[in-house]
Amino acid sequence: MSSGDSLIGIRGFLIDTPERGKLRAWSDGAIVIEDGLIAEIGDYGELSKKPRREPMRWLHSNRVAIFPGLIDLHTHLPQYPAIARSETELLPWLRRYIFPLEREFTGAKARKECAQFFAELARHGTTTAMIYTAIYEESCDAAFEAAQTSGMRAIIGKMMMDVGSYGDLAVEKILETSLTQSERLCKKWHGAENGRLDYAFSPRFALSCSREMMTATAELAKKHGAYIQTHLSENLAELAAVFEMCGWADDYVDVYEKCGLLTPHTVLGHSIHLSERERDAIARSGANVAHCPTANLFLNSGIMKLDRLLDAGIRVGLGTDVAAGPELNLWHVMRTAIESQKARSFYEKNVRVPSPADVLFLATQGAAHVLGKGAQLGSLDIGKEADLTLVDIGALLPYRKNTKVQNDLGAEDILTLCIHRGGPHATIETFVRGRSVYRAMQPELFG
Ligand SMILES: [Zn+2]
Repeated sequence: MSSGDSLIGIRGFLIDTPERGKLRAWSDGAIVIEDGLIAEIGDYGELSKKPRREPMRWLHSNRVAIFPGLIDLHTHLPQYPAIARSETELLPWLRRYIFPLEREFTGAKARKECAQFFAELARHGTTTAMIYTAIYEESCDAAFEAAQTSGMRAIIGKMMMDVGSYGDLAVEKILETSLTQSERLCKKWHGAENGRLDYAFSPRFALSCSREMMTATAELAKKHGAYIQTHLSENLAELAAVFEMCGWADDYVDVYEKCGLLTPHTVLGHSIHLSERERDAIARSGANVAHCPTANLFLNSGIMKLDRLLDAGIRVGLGTDVAAGPELNLWHVMRTAIESQKARSFYEKNVRVPSPADVLFLATQGAAHVLGKGAQLGSLDIGKEADLTLVDIGALLPYRKNTKVQNDLGAEDILTLCIHRGGPHATIETFVRGRSVYRAMQPELFG
C-alpha cells in the first residue's frame, strides 16, 4: 500500500474490547481509513456498496482478523540480541549479560539495531511500544530517529543510573550529566510527530539510582509533562537489597513515593511482591503497572497477583520486557498472563483467572488508558487513530488454510487461537495511523 492513499478500506473479521472483558466483533466487517483515522466501521457488504466521491482501494478479505494495534508497555531495545540467554535471576543476569551488552550500545551498531527493532515490533503486530535505551544520549536519539522513520508509535527514554552504572563517566559527573541529557532528549522528542513520539524519564530502579537522582527526575518529568518508567518489586533478592540501601523508606513503593515518582504518567514494570499498603499507595497516586508475565517466569521472579492490582483500582497493561522476556510477541504475553494466573489458582484460593477478552483489553484499550491515550487508541471506534494489527486466520489453524473451518469460527475462537498460536508467522499487515508499517510477503492473501 502506498502511504499516499487518503481513503482506504480494509475488510476482515473485526475484534476488539472497548471495555475490560467485553468482546465486540463484526464477522465480515470493514474499516474505512481517512487521513490516518478510522472514518467508518461496519459490515463490509454495506460499506463496499456505499457511493463515494473518490475511488476507494479495498484491502484484505474475511480470512483476516483485524484487531486494534497491540501496545507493549515495557521493553528494552539494546537488550534484544540477548533474548532467551540463560535462565537465572534478575541481579546476576543483569551483571552477566545485560550491562555488558548495554555498555556497547553506541555508534553504528546502535543505529542499525534501532532500525531493525522497530521493524521487528511491527512484524509482531505491535504498534506502540514503551522503550528503555542504554545510558547514552546518542542511543536514545538513535531510537527516536528510527521510530520517526518507521512510522511506529513509541514512548522512549534514556536509561538513568548513578549507582553501579556501566558507563565511563567519573562518578561525580554522572548525576548532572544524566539529568541534563535526559531533559535535552525530552525537549527534543516529547510530543514529536504530532504526538506519535513521547519521552519517558527512565530511572532504572531503586538499586541503580540515588535518592537525589530519583527526586530530580520526578521534578523534570513534572516540568515537561512527560512520562516516567521504572522497575518495581520484581525479584526477592532485589527487594532485600532495596530494604538495605533505602533505610529512609518504609517499603519499596515508599522509595518512589518519597521521591515523587508515582504519578498518573508513571508506568511501573512488574510490581510482583507488593503489600496491600503498596497496592493502595499506587492506586491513590494514579500510577500504572506494566505486567510482564513471560519475563517474570523466565527470570524466576514470581507471579504477579493480577486480580489484586485490578481490584485495588490500578490501571494495568502488558509488557514483553525483552530481554528478560524471551520474545517481542504480545500474543505470547497474553497467553502467559492467563496461564500464570491459572497456575496461581492451583495453590491459592479465590484467584480470578483472566479471560481471553480480559487480556486483549490489557494489550489494547487498557494499555491506551495507562498512557492517557484511551480516547485516541485501543479500540476500533470512529475517530480513533487507525493503529491496526491484521492476522491471517489460516496461519493459526492446523493444516493452514481451510475456508470452511474459518467460516465456522466465532470471535472468541479466533481470539483464543491468536493468544495461543499467534505471532509474527501469522501477522499479515500492521498499520499505524493508517500507514502500513509491516506487510507479509504473501500476495495471494491480499485482495
Ligand atoms: Zn525491564
